Amino acid sequence: MNWSDEEFGFETRAIHAGQSPDSATGAVVTPLYLTSTYIHSEPGVFQGYDYSRAGNPTRSAYEECVANLEGARFGFAFASGCLGATTVMHLLSQGDHIVCCDDMYGGTYRLFEEVFRKSGLDFTFLDLSEPAALAGAMRDNTRLVWIESPTNPLMKLIDIAAVAAIAHEHGARLMVDNTFMSPYFQRPLALGADLVLHSTTKYINGHSDLIGGVVITDDAELGGQLKFLNQSLGGIQSAFDAFLCLRSLKTLAIRMEAHTKNALAIAEFLQGHPKVEWVAYPGLASHPQHELACRQTSGHGGMLAFSIKGGLPAAKALMSKVRLFTLAESLGGVESLIEHPGLMTHASLSTEKRAEVGIGDSLIRLSVGIESTHDLLRDLEQAL
Ligand SMILES: *Cc1c(COP(=O)(O)O)cnc(C)c1O
Repeated sequence: MNWSDEEFGFETRAIHAGQSPDSATGAVVTPLYLTSTYIHSEPGVFQGYDYSRAGNPTRSAYEECVANLEGARFGFAFASGCLGATTVMHLLSQGDHIVCCDDMYGGTYRLFEEVFRKSGLDFTFLDLSEPAALAGAMRDNTRLVWIESPTNPLMKLIDIAAVAAIAHEHGARLMVDNTFMSPYFQRPLALGADLVLHSTTKYINGHSDLIGGVVITDDAELGGQLKFLNQSLGGIQSAFDAFLCLRSLKTLAIRMEAHTKNALAIAEFLQGHPKVEWVAYPGLASHPQHELACRQTSGHGGMLAFSIKGGLPAAKALMSKVRLFTLAESLGGVESLIEHPGLMTHASLSTEKRAEVGIGDSLIRLSVGIESTHDLLRDLEQAL
């Protein structure tokens, strides 16, 4: 069946794309194929699968479904978001230059600066909230532009269509890390991006019970190269984790709606609270890029950051007093999490780098879950 987005809505495709009742047993749900190898009827002749690093029916169903949700033909599931990023970096060669947004996921920053710089790739990090800044950073050897929007943790937005146009003008490709928005709220390929990455550990799986990543493209050449690299580097997602992600996609739409409803209520509450300096949530009219957020995404998601009055002691006090929010890294799960970027998720950045991007001692990040709105508000109220 052709699950085109012209014919079927997101929710329908999330439940059916890439999946049909199992031909051997009639099982309605795509089975979990736990096998490393597959029978050949004669040497070199097999039914589409020969070895599970190259392909596994459970993983294939999931890859087809998640690619479909981004409006693309090719999806590759990895054992982590970082392995997806690692595999994409292998599309490049020694001497190539990559331009990245400055306020990016700490693990990706570390991977680029401390691993790939050593293998001869060159990186420039800059604030791309004004897309025009990109043109000045492009060089003859710039092959890739890598952005996140919204950025982590400060929720700055980048105009994907504008950045794509500048990247393409200079012969580079654009990669968008779409982890925060999920394909339900933002589809970068439709805005001109060439590649999309998700840490599926976050919203796509959504239940904080696995680590995974996916890279998606609709470009046949990139798709072919990624297939080769995924098989050669071997960073594939396990069949079991692919099974969980495929199941989780079915509820992505309703989860994202619930995350957004709660996050907006909390952002509004915090914005009006005397102990809060400012709140960064793209769904607030006070967000400097609220208009871009409304144009580029169809919803604002569950992530927000805020600055508390009273610096580190006040931040630590709040984090020790919450009862429903769990003090933990990561994000995108059904349960609400609270964390201190300076001491936790972004601790791998140098003090100067943190100061440069604006990650101060009073900054707190929330990953708002899908618990009762009332209970979450009450928890923050008592803790503040
Ligand atoms: C978590 C995360 C990653 C890294 O993914 P892992 O699954 O932890 O390897 C990359 N980008 C963003 C935005 C993330 O939140």
